[in-house]
Amino acid sequence: MGDVKIGVLAIQGDFREHKQMLESLGVEAPEVRLPKHLEGLSGLIVPGGESTTIGMLAREYGLESAVRERVQEGSLAVWGTCAGAIWIAKDIPQYPQQPRLGLMDISVQRNAYGRQVDSFEEDLEVKGLDRPFHAFFIRAPVILEVGQGVEVLSKHGDEIILARQNHLLAGTFHPELTRDARIHQLFTQMARG
Ligand code: GLN
Repeated sequence: MGDVKIGVLAIQGDFREHKQMLESLGVEAPEVRLPKHLEGLSGLIVPGGESTTIGMLAREYGLESAVRERVQEGSLAVWGTCAGAIWIAKDIPQYPQQPRLGLMDISVQRNAYGRQVDSFEEDLEVKGLDRPFHAFFIRAPVILEVGQGVEVLSKHGDEIILARQNHLLAGTFHPELTRDARIHQLFTQMARG
């Protein structure tokens, strides 16, 4: 898979795990901290972490507007995992002012599973995959609603946990914490176009 480069937003959160996962697939995965690091990339992964921190710093470093421009011109695929999914969402009804990319037509609720069950894991069916994916949820959000152009790829009970809109992918769980690279593979295909 040496023909695409996929950057990993490396401001905060578990970006190293994503980088390792991509490299295990033979994909070059540079760390992105500044707008100039987006050059030559076909995709960008926004990791889990703290969406408020990622959002504030991405705005401060000029990354929010640089990524927005590349997504809008159709030259960059973006996958947000957990905090990253919150960052790319159009709506966060609880926190409308939270800094974010805001391009994917989904509405999310942060820390949706509450304090008692703040982390759990489960095998889940994912559209396009032939067997279940072992998903880790850590203080996860849920996708409350999706717009017309958004395809739901996986649900946990009634909650939407993986969805795609053109070259945007949002997931509320952490494939980078498994040894299963199938969703990284899927995203690599999206980035390839
Ligand atoms: N609870 C975090 C937030 O709202 C997300 C947690 C995660 O990325 N594991 O930003």
